[in-house]
Amino acid sequence: MPRTKYVFVTGGVSSSLGKGIISASLAKLLQARGFSVTIQKFDPYINIDPGTMNPYEHGECYVTDDGAETDLDLGHYERYLNVPTSQANNVTTGRVYQSVIDKERRGDYLGKTVQVIPHITDEIKYRVKLLGNTGDYDFVITEIGGTVGDIESLPYIESVRQLKWELGDQCVVVHLTLVPYLAAAQELKTKPTQHSVKLLLESGIQPDIIVCRTEKPLNESVRNKIAQFCNVERNSVIESIDAPSIYQVPLLMREEKLDIEVLAKTRTAYNKEPDLTKWESFLYKLEHPKCTVNIGLVGKYTELKDAYKSILESFIHAGTENLCKVKVHRISSECISKDNVEEKLGEMSGILVAPGFGDRGIEGKITAIKYARENNVPFLGICLGMQCAVIEFGRNVLGYTHAHSTEMEPRTKYPVIDIMDDQKDIDDMGGTMRLGAYPCSIREGSKAYEVYGKLNIKERHRHRFEYNNKYKDEYEKAGMIASGINEANDLVEIMEIPTHPWFIGVQFHPEYGSTVAEPHPLFSAFVGAAKEYRSEPV
Ligand code: GLN
Repeated sequence: MPRTKYVFVTGGVSSSLGKGIISASLAKLLQARGFSVTIQKFDPYINIDPGTMNPYEHGECYVTDDGAETDLDLGHYERYLNVPTSQANNVTTGRVYQSVIDKERRGDYLGKTVQVIPHITDEIKYRVKLLGNTGDYDFVITEIGGTVGDIESLPYIESVRQLKWELGDQCVVVHLTLVPYLAAAQELKTKPTQHSVKLLLESGIQPDIIVCRTEKPLNESVRNKIAQFCNVERNSVIESIDAPSIYQVPLLMREEKLDIEVLAKTRTAYNKEPDLTKWESFLYKLEHPKCTVNIGLVGKYTELKDAYKSILESFIHAGTENLCKVKVHRISSECISKDNVEEKLGEMSGILVAPGFGDRGIEGKITAIKYARENNVPFLGICLGMQCAVIEFGRNVLGYTHAHSTEMEPRTKYPVIDIMDDQKDIDDMGGTMRLGAYPCSIREGSKAYEVYGKLNIKERHRHRFEYNNKYKDEYEKAGMIASGINEANDLVEIMEIPTHPWFIGVQFHPEYGSTVAEPHPLFSAFVGAAKEYRSEPV
């Protein structure tokens, strides 16, 4: 069996340089050459997973098929590679310590003092190699969260040092840094990069490849200087220039030969060029839209661009399917009222009400849905968005005054959304929601069936509340039907209004399943309906 090669991606100088995108782009290039690749993210915080953090702390929480609540970078990995990730692809310090402490209590280290080195680093190394040891991958790319020099990253950096020493040319370290442009001096500056490489060297790691994030092209002298002062070959200095779309980065990395450098350094034989035909045709469509569609994204985290990351990316994928540019307008649900809803949403071609938790902004979401329903504006409700659609219909069509979800109003007279039975006795908040992929059966002849073109689907979930089946007959009679059901527990997964041109609410999260290679059918159909309803020139 050929040996799995390990690529580590570290970051220096600043956070937010795009380690996730560089890792995913490199993976894409290797995959396009016929290698099997997976990417994992190691996060230095002490939470077991990001599931209990709010989006202000951590952006979106991404959910895998096997129900892991993970870092949003895993979303990029899936969108680029079109291969599902799993629990093993996201490791946190919390998880590492938890398993070491569990082993200590079991007596696995009897007689020993348990220490960061070797016990924590051994656990990190074990987890780095876990996916590689399955034999399924030629390359395992490990992105180390945080920035070199952070106190909490130290055990990870030390583990990388040990692995590099143990694995030799089976292992390569790619260091991503910033090369800032100083307008006053009209120069790109290499000193921050030199310093961050020095920091890595202090920890015993000589990076093999340096990827330089920059606003301006790196000239020869800058490249030479970085090579010379950071002890890397000239070809191993890779430019990563700001791009208008993250989806262009694999092509930029191909031009810079990042994949070839990795193949050379790991002594991996290769004979073909990366086949990016499909990727390029996606990019072509992205760059040549024929019209514009305006979508109102109603949620409470409008100022945070990472809070709805997967939704925004799904719209980009769906736009290419419909040959249109999707302009997403993030509209704060807290600012929507009966009096201004027309002004806020009147220009939109479609309205999406976002997932979420808690009471804040809930009435604005319900008002937005009423507007979409009454004015025949295409509507997609996701998770809490679907639950709000049920509440709105209950209140305004069925006359259930103050109908609500028991999440917001535990004593409501009409609990049209209620806690799931198996959630009632749960006290711990971490990792206890209904998480991951579950099957859903679709009703023949429904809009959902038209969208998916099949009767059985699987979608990912993250919720504790559900549609209350007690009210199902009344809803169906009044015109809101359950068109998708999880048969194992009779849980309603999809609601729709057949008399409306396009009104669908889903309990699951289609946004986690949209990739460049396979845009999600719900998003594609929603954008298609929005385009038909109203579109503008580009
Ligand atoms: N708060 C709702 C629930 O727990 C919806 C969750 C969501 O939108 N992800 O059921």
